Amino acid sequence: MSLTRTTCPYCGVGCGVLAGADGTIKGDPDHPANFGRLCSKGTALGETIDLDGRLLNPKVNGQATDWDSALDLVARKFSEAIADHGPDSVAFYASGQLLTEDYYVANKLMKGFIGSANIDTNSRLCMASSVAGHKRAFGTDTVPGTYEDLEKADLIVLVGSNLAWCHPVLYQRIAAAKEVRPEMRVVNIDPRRTATTDLADTHLQIAPDGDVALFNGLLAHLADVGALDQEFTANHVNGLENTVQAARASAPTASGLTPSELAAFYALWAGTQKVVTIYSQGVNQSVCGTDKVNAILNCHLATGRIGKPGCGPFSVTGQPNAMGGREVGGLANMLANHLELDNADHRDAVQAFWDSPAICNAPGLKAVDLFQACADGKIKALWVMSTNPAVSLPDADGVAAAISKVPFVVTSDIMEKTDTNDLAHVLLPTTGWGEKDGTVTNSERRISRQRAFLPIPGAARPDWQIISDVATRMGFGSAFAFEKPADIFAEYVALDAATSQFPRDLDLSIFGDADYAALIPTQWPTNTRRFFADGQFYHPDGKARMIPVKAPTLTQTRFSLNTGRNRDQWHTMTRSGKSARLGAHLAEPYVEMHPDDAVAIGASPGDLITVESLYGHTILRALITPRAAAGQLFAPMHWTRQRSPSGLVNSMTASVTDPISGQPALKSGAVTAQVYKPKWFGFLACASTPATQTPYTAIARTQTGWQAELAGSKRPADWEAEVRALTGMADGIASVQTDMGSGTVRVAFTEGGVISALFFASPSPVVISRRTVVDLIGTDIATSDALAGRPAADMPDAGPTVCACFNVGRTTLLNAISQGAGSLAALGDKTCAGTNCGSCKPELTALLAEAQLPMAAE
Ligand code: SF4
Repeated sequence: MSLTRTTCPYCGVGCGVLAGADGTIKGDPDHPANFGRLCSKGTALGETIDLDGRLLNPKVNGQATDWDSALDLVARKFSEAIADHGPDSVAFYASGQLLTEDYYVANKLMKGFIGSANIDTNSRLCMASSVAGHKRAFGTDTVPGTYEDLEKADLIVLVGSNLAWCHPVLYQRIAAAKEVRPEMRVVNIDPRRTATTDLADTHLQIAPDGDVALFNGLLAHLADVGALDQEFTANHVNGLENTVQAARASAPTASGLTPSELAAFYALWAGTQKVVTIYSQGVNQSVCGTDKVNAILNCHLATGRIGKPGCGPFSVTGQPNAMGGREVGGLANMLANHLELDNADHRDAVQAFWDSPAICNAPGLKAVDLFQACADGKIKALWVMSTNPAVSLPDADGVAAAISKVPFVVTSDIMEKTDTNDLAHVLLPTTGWGEKDGTVTNSERRISRQRAFLPIPGAARPDWQIISDVATRMGFGSAFAFEKPADIFAEYVALDAATSQFPRDLDLSIFGDADYAALIPTQWPTNTRRFFADGQFYHPDGKARMIPVKAPTLTQTRFSLNTGRNRDQWHTMTRSGKSARLGAHLAEPYVEMHPDDAVAIGASPGDLITVESLYGHTILRALITPRAAAGQLFAPMHWTRQRSPSGLVNSMTASVTDPISGQPALKSGAVTAQVYKPKWFGFLACASTPATQTPYTAIARTQTGWQAELAGSKRPADWEAEVRALTGMADGIASVQTDMGSGTVRVAFTEGGVISALFFASPSPVVISRRTVVDLIGTDIATSDALAGRPAADMPDAGPTVCACFNVGRTTLLNAISQGAGSLAALGDKTCAGTNCGSCKPELTALLAEAQLPMAAE
């Protein structure tokens, strides 16, 4: 099987992948982002390329149609809206999943031909605060660091970043470097203890939004102890004195940390030259996200710890092509190629290059404002490209209602059923990962190719082609006569050359003569040039700016809700949710809660919790753990109405944004929590997709079909009928066992002598090995054994999955530890766990520590 060199479609690490049409997936040993490594999500990519659930034909109002009809309709509706209501009455909402070429064409159509800047992207949710902070400090949106800096640093400060789960290969690179140089120090600043914390020498359990106070305090300390770089700041930085003065006004303890924790951290920072500060959504997704970014940048600028190997601030992006989108102007407040939308010379140059009839002259609507404009009736035609805002935006139910108010909604997507597609008039089938061709840029500015290795299914088409076809039908054909992605990339590079008179960081000249087909991963501006090594920044005077920032006043709420990601899922699970292996890690929506809080609300492990805000409510499984700080809840954002209608976490998040970046604050919402008391709890494993009609449902793919966690508010009179309705099974022989005393119910369905569904219900949370039950589906085990939830003799219960690569469960690992496997290496030897992608290593370490505690106490 020949393998194609491509790039992972998940996170901003941008790992190189060798992929085959048979589903073979390997890490690319030659890609400088990962050198052959992959995380659990990347490793399972081969399990996500089937056509199950794919959108394969254009659809108008739910009916399949041909491309001409669909494209004619889209072009006509957008043209009519523009003619009747002006260019700002239409909008595109794009995605960091789009390739740079797709983004370039969408941005060109909206900003240069429609004449509006109403194109924003889900990257607004991911790194807009970093973009704004970079521009304030550097004059450009420049990420100065490289991944090698992480290995060369003597101190790595991770702020608001669960790198072990969200950028696992970067975590692995740091872990490997720390193994070689144990003197390397890692400080993890996070309100909760995460898998990343296990790598850290110090965990600073900061208060939500306490970052500005913390870094202002650091800057004041650096000034007090004479640790500022006087020469660097005198020659290359403006605003030092004002900024230090503003920093002194902050009380560092407002960060929630103790004076001794602060003193130790400040001394470590001041005493270490090679410091890299990595930050991610915990910094960006905040009402003061931009100020947090600048508070970090201020410390690096004040000490000259920037532009040198092993030094610098490092914003890591969540999406695979968030950086590419930034480069081509995929945000409503950018033009293209890092040119300024509010600069008339820049606008004129771009318009001249595009030879376009119009150019936007004011920023467009940022994501949250864009959907508010939909709610207000201002948007008459909306095109959502490869993203799912009805799930991923704050106040998701409000966003869904807003989309449903837009007179004409188009979505282009690979999947047919998504929460957003359900609201669209026109669905356009796009090519997915493995079928499309183009480029992406990772967090270290490295442009890599995504290459096709699969045939294009059904009538799907690449995004750039769909957008160009609509542009042509709107009368702009000559500017969109692209025949292939290479044509678009060439135009993108040519625009860069044509505007080189405007000083900025983006410089694509290295790609001028590049062979697009054979393009190797390449960093701009060059593979070797280090930004800011010469002390030159991009403000007109060539200096950087330190920005005085004020710590916010923190308000106390009974519970503060932090939202984020799981190790093995990606965004709204439309791709990663296809993999049974990945689904087995954490199979239902949950809320992490400190044990003291659980006691306070009367919650026990396995209970369901109603978490509620002013915006909406969810029902989530209680995960009671001291990893959460008291008063703080954490819930993952992956579950959709398709998978868990009551588990949609963004139903509860507020449409509150950073005033500068427009990035929503998704990390510290005020909520209440109480135990949800259903009349019954249930667990179902079956071959078919379960219905999601009970008040609490969470469905997940399994190796044998599907599973569902359930809870109902009314005890059914006929359990067989209930399970038939849940599974959609008309046939099959049912065996029902009811224990009137305990109130438990067990139902088995057999078809053709094999088990096709197993259902367990109880007045309290169902205690049974999910894995055992799931593994019984499709077997010919005796019904009585199946109803007992007993594993077959050759199928011992492995417990919940920890290692997704080798499907190693918690019970198997605990058994191995009790038999003497007392280290990661020994566990690996005995069970294979942790020996492939390594994403589970933090959990293995925690399991070893947990299992060894009682032994140590004995
Ligand atoms: Fe993909 Fe994992 Fe690499 Fe991110 S770290 S790019 S998800 S393989």
